[in-house]
Amino acid sequence: MKMQPAAASAPWPFVPAPRVIDITHAKGCTLYTRDGGEILDAAGGAIVSNIGQGRPEVGEAMAAAMTSLSYAVPPFVTPERTRVMERLHRAWLPANLTRGYFASGGSEAVDAACRLAVQHFRAKGDTKRWKIVSRDISYHGTTLFTLGVAGHVARKKGFEELIPHMPQVPTPYSLRAPGGRHDPDYDLKAAQALEDTILREGPETVAAFLAEPITGSSGGALMPGARYWPKVREICDRHGVILISDEVMVGFGRTGKRFACEHFGFTPDIMIAGKGFAGGYAPIVGVFASDAVVAPLADAGQGLMFYTYGGHPGACAAADKVLQIMEDEDLVARAAKQGRGLAERLEAQLGQHPNVAEIRGEGLFRGLEIVKDRDTLEPFPESAALAQRIVGAGLKRGVFFYGGGTGAVRDIVCLGPAFIVSDGELDRMAETLKLAIDDAVASAS
Ligand code: PLP
Repeated sequence: MKMQPAAASAPWPFVPAPRVIDITHAKGCTLYTRDGGEILDAAGGAIVSNIGQGRPEVGEAMAAAMTSLSYAVPPFVTPERTRVMERLHRAWLPANLTRGYFASGGSEAVDAACRLAVQHFRAKGDTKRWKIVSRDISYHGTTLFTLGVAGHVARKKGFEELIPHMPQVPTPYSLRAPGGRHDPDYDLKAAQALEDTILREGPETVAAFLAEPITGSSGGALMPGARYWPKVREICDRHGVILISDEVMVGFGRTGKRFACEHFGFTPDIMIAGKGFAGGYAPIVGVFASDAVVAPLADAGQGLMFYTYGGHPGACAAADKVLQIMEDEDLVARAAKQGRGLAERLEAQLGQHPNVAEIRGEGLFRGLEIVKDRDTLEPFPESAALAQRIVGAGLKRGVFFYGGGTGAVRDIVCLGPAFIVSDGELDRMAETLKLAIDDAVASAS
């Protein structure tokens, strides 16, 4: 796959780049380029695609919605909004999450979830609770507020004066746990750090704890130990803190269950879930909340301020059809099965690789942490930009991987193909990733 030189006068991208990838269309897990090349998408875009690209039924559902109603303000009821909420209740959401609010992207949705948590207390007359505790390796979006609550040092850089500074606690990252690699009690220690922080800040000032159940690309599919989430749930309950789970990346079947919280046996008070909601066919992300969270707003006669395009009828129709396809074709179970297949292939190709510190994740969301030395966990220098090199080397070989990492977890490569991915495509992804890592390490040495 060749990258095309881009003229500075080209209409896209926003910031002119020396080379661009020019995509004309896509089908399944394959993107087709203007010069006749093909890219196998091992990342489902930005871990978005689930039913695969090019399903005409979704476009047809959107067209039908758009011909009957192009727009209505978000608080109005429309058939598309009602239909998708009914489906969510029937087949997808944890039973306690009865209320749904739709945004057009993850950053907007996280912002709304944090507003909702604070508004919940204000509507009850409690104006002291406003802090949102979050975690040190995390990503929650790129608006100035969501950057503030995220723990993504690289993306925050340069905006420090503009963003809120909220208390942060450690993300359970057992590979580099202070008590030693894979400290068996690190899950409990990480949860305890949350309680210590709440107590230090004053529980009466803390509105919510915001975290990803499985950390996305900032940490590369960091998996907490089994006791972490039940203990976090207990701590939040003890101190009256709202638990917000950010499943923007891992929700809607990505990890082989409907939502990642099901792996850990906890239910949040607010859950944000989105990339897979409409599988890339339309911009829509849900903020789902319990009756108990929303009731004080209703009692006080308040709404949760909407975004103009929240719950757009075309996006709701797309989401409803994508979820229907996932149900009809049992694609969540397929994500679990193909996810196991992907893990086995990655282990076979890269399990003993000298530059792979860990392969982790669940279902069709897998992350690899790349280091200079697997024994000491010494990373490559930041200037080597190793994850970016791997993504570039993968593209040269016709496969797209998703780079990530921040801070101590510097070089991450994520895989998150669509759930319809075939065994042959999984073979190619794992084989190409091995070659791309070798190319990148050789070019950085
Ligand atoms: N939260 C998580 C966990 C994410 O992974 C992302 C994006 O990757 C976001 C929030 C922000 O979503 P968006 O890019 O749609 O604003």
